[in-house]
Amino acid sequence: MSISLQFFGAARHVTGSKHLLEVNGKRVLLDCGMVQGPRKISDKANRDLPFPADSIDAVVLSHAHIDHSGSLPRLVRLGFKGDIHCTNPTEDLLGLLLPDSAHIQAHDARYLRKKGHRVEPAYDAEDVATTLKRARGHTYHKRFAVCEGVEAEFFDAGHILGSSMVLLSVDDGSQRLRILFTGDFGRKDLPILRDPDEVPACDYLITESTYGDRLHPPRTDLQETLCGIVEEEIRDGGRILIPAFSVGRTPIVVYFLGNLMAAKRIPKLSIFVDSPLSSKATKVMAQNPQSLTTRPVKSSIAAATRSSSMACVMWPMSRKASPSMLSEVGSSSRPRVCVKPAASCITSSRASRILEIAC
Ligand SMILES: [Zn+2]
Repeated sequence: MSISLQFFGAARHVTGSKHLLEVNGKRVLLDCGMVQGPRKISDKANRDLPFPADSIDAVVLSHAHIDHSGSLPRLVRLGFKGDIHCTNPTEDLLGLLLPDSAHIQAHDARYLRKKGHRVEPAYDAEDVATTLKRARGHTYHKRFAVCEGVEAEFFDAGHILGSSMVLLSVDDGSQRLRILFTGDFGRKDLPILRDPDEVPACDYLITESTYGDRLHPPRTDLQETLCGIVEEEIRDGGRILIPAFSVGRTPIVVYFLGNLMAAKRIPKLSIFVDSPLSSKATKVMAQNPQSLTTRPVKSSIAAATRSSSMACVMWPMSRKASPSMLSEVGSSSRPRVCVKPAASCITSSRASRILEIAC
């Protein structure tokens, strides 16, 4: 009779979340994240998983961000045959993020081969397709069986669409424990997402503290900060580039800009979301209204995903559509804003100003 926990990622460093729970010989993996960072470290870490893939009986996933889900196709490629439990919206987002991850790896490998480096992606589109078939979507607040001796229930973590705290009820025959894994924990009073659920009672708490030494500014300050910077750039005749994470942050930035325009605090802008992934993820949000806040923003998000309803926002849904939309925005007489994936802004030389918004 035994219960044990091991931490293989996101401990003493960030990204690569993988926590292994073992109960009477059954092995449940909490998250299976990709290590992100310098290629020398991340390539090896993402190829060589720290446990035999076929020894894992089931995965329980807190949310869809790649540093928590991005090694699932590698796990499947190396022999994992079990179920991947997650919330229903997380299952929807995995259908966007994992194919995107495979695409980026294939693109990088082609580029590096041209430079004379031998690089093999950790997985390909076929591994992703097999992985997605293993996903089992669940609703919040409904307990389900993971394997013999382990049950789980999802609580809203308020971090991104579908994000969850996982409450595990573990029974090894001699003791019962409630183990709570928070995943990434969100904040209250943001638009669009629901506030996090109250943290349920537990015997053991597993949490990650990437931003644990910082305090969030109030939500109203974020919108005011954005307003001030946009006003200043428009006065200076600049174009505005906003780095934002594709899943979760982009619609919040667009929402704040929409609010400011509606209140006539800033002039009408031409906004280009330079990321088909952001556009599709925002559409998934609109398709999951039950997971959004009950504050009156649902319809704004649904409208924001249809360019005809919010004419000043361009949401390309494919890489092919991006260039023509970009030229349409470029020819607009309105001040222009481009919202881009944060990582791609690092190398951009076209920005006149980068805004950092600590959401
Ligand atoms: Zn996250």
